[in-house]
Amino acid sequence: MEVNDYPSILLSQAVSRMASLPGVGKRTALRYVLHLLRQSPETVEGFAGDILKLRREVHYCRSCHNLSDTDLCPICASTRRDHATICVVENVQDVMSIERTGQYQGVYHVLGGVISPMDGVSPTDLEIESLLTRAKDATEVILALPTTMEGDTTVFYIFRRLNQLYPSLKVSQIARGVAVGGDLEYTDEVTLGRSILNRTLLTT
Ligand code: ZN
Repeated sequence: MEVNDYPSILLSQAVSRMASLPGVGKRTALRYVLHLLRQSPETVEGFAGDILKLRREVHYCRSCHNLSDTDLCPICASTRRDHATICVVENVQDVMSIERTGQYQGVYHVLGGVISPMDGVSPTDLEIESLLTRAKDATEVILALPTTMEGDTTVFYIFRRLNQLYPSLKVSQIARGVAVGGDLEYTDEVTLGRSILNRTLLTT
């Protein structure tokens, strides 16, 4: 659909904005915008306000870098979690996926990506140094990273660094049954839960 196909410039602008979201094509964007137009101005204001508030006010936990409304996220702040076990994940969605399995009682560390020389992502672009610092007090670090070349590179790099610093620290990798090359986000809860329980210890 061309810009001229829209009866209103405002409509065309709103559709363009909406279509800039991942997975939203022009047709779906138009449907969303027309839906918003059918709502009361107050409803749309609340919708836009919540998104703006999220963008302006959300924090990253100073310990694990998960999203949080507070300086320390609820998982890091909880006394019921095992703070000596740290599960390393690529992103915030992975924390949510693992939490849904109900099989993990430790804490997390969100890297914010994986090492990818092709995309120009080096270890210094990720929260790796902060992990190395945190791991000082840990008994086990579980690497729950994607089974892609980038994920494997990241696992190898982190394991090597941790092993150099803390030779007696247990470093394990989650077992992956299905989802080869897939994201944790798309792995079903049972499989993911099992893969955490059946993790394998990494050795040199
Ligand atoms: Zn946290």
